Amino acid sequence: MKPLPRKVTVMGRVIPIRYISKAKLNAMFPNAEGVWDSYERCIFINREAPRNIQLYYIYHEMGHAIKNFIGLDQVIQAEFQEVIVQSYATLIEDILKQSNKLK
Ligand SMILES: [Zn+2]
Repeated sequence: MKPLPRKVTVMGRVIPIRYISKAKLNAMFPNAEGVWDSYERCIFINREAPRNIQLYYIYHEMGHAIKNFIGLDQVIQAEFQEVIVQSYATLIEDILKQSNKLK
């Protein structure tokens, strides 16, 4: 199986991904499987989560990065932001599943 990425590019910006323990992640953000750190500009992912969950949260946190880069995080409420990034992540998953089927 292909290893998960150590970095992703979002809007032309390279974002490192750090895989850390659930305990460390939840010290930053309770109950999270992933975190977008807008200060450090990196993504943290629970290294103990199943691979499909890790991938989902990479897409989810990329959505948070996009919102941050375009300033959407400044103008809409947090719960709406979660709905938006969950939509992004689901859309990416669906597109990738379908494009893999087409190969
Ligand atoms: Zn989120």
